[in-house]
Amino acid sequence: MSTKVPPIILNNGVEMPQLGFGVWQVPDDEAERAVATALEAGYRSIDTAAAYGNEEGTGRAIAASGVPREELFVTTKLWNDDHGYDATLRAFDTSMTKLGLDYLDLYLIHWPAPKQDNYVDTYKAFEKLHSDGRIKAIGVSNFLPEHLERLIGETSVIPAVDQIEVHPHLQQHAAREYNAEQGIATEAWSPLGSGKGILEVPAIVAVAQKHNRTPAQIVLRWHLQLGNVVIPKSVTPSRIRENIDVFDFSLDTEDLAAISALNEDRRTGPDPAKFG
Ligand code: NDP
Repeated sequence: MSTKVPPIILNNGVEMPQLGFGVWQVPDDEAERAVATALEAGYRSIDTAAAYGNEEGTGRAIAASGVPREELFVTTKLWNDDHGYDATLRAFDTSMTKLGLDYLDLYLIHWPAPKQDNYVDTYKAFEKLHSDGRIKAIGVSNFLPEHLERLIGETSVIPAVDQIEVHPHLQQHAAREYNAEQGIATEAWSPLGSGKGILEVPAIVAVAQKHNRTPAQIVLRWHLQLGNVVIPKSVTPSRIRENIDVFDFSLDTEDLAAISALNEDRRTGPDPAKFG
């Protein structure tokens, strides 16, 4: 049985499924199998990146799935080595060849890489690809409000999405609020905390027991009810199915508060102000 995921409407009117499938750290062949399982389970949004080295496997799974292209929402990301206007145009073509697609749903600048000081020109190339009809929506990843403020001041298209690390130990109140004020959707990467202990936190286990659900389902529900887009990753077929089976129950205010009390401002990944 496959589940239908409700969409959110991005600031340019494009619909994006609120829950998708992430493939970071999944080797190319395994990504092909995992994406095939995800598409079978009902996922329609896939999140990859040039840096993940699995755009080809992802593309093979998409091609073999038989799912009509217009039902899919494919995201890939431009890596730090390819910042700059011309380099971005070249990197985009390479990604599209690997994915085997003729248009992309969402292209993200993977990191602002502020030391390179080149994300504005990079984004101008995104705007060109967008206005040429090659990308439905353009956005960023790991951009802090300071990076977005500059970008919005110096370019024309407000990013549709900012994909940032968010989970119960890193709730990103300031960044989420800033994004919401600008009309930018917040997409949570490592929504389950990247398998580093979130799912064993007693408060989460208690909410899971109360609803007769798994801790992963509880954490994903928490994100969805906050309005975040989520892209959980798994290579385990039963977990892939479990993570999309979250649309037939809700957390109450007490459950949401119990999880919101777990914030520790603790990153699992690099600090965007310094990385790249
Ligand atoms: P997640 O938070 O999605 O957690 C994945 C880990 O949790 C894996 O170890 C997985 O194990 C395990 N897991 C998944 N589902 C369950 C479950 N139901 N029960 C128990 N364990 C589970 O981690 P990621 O760091 O992969 O983040 C998700 C996606 O976000 C990435 O794949 C990528 O697309 C994106 N991302 C983007 C970044 C960026 O800079 N823009 C950075 C990092 C991630 P297993 O696979 O063995 O089943």
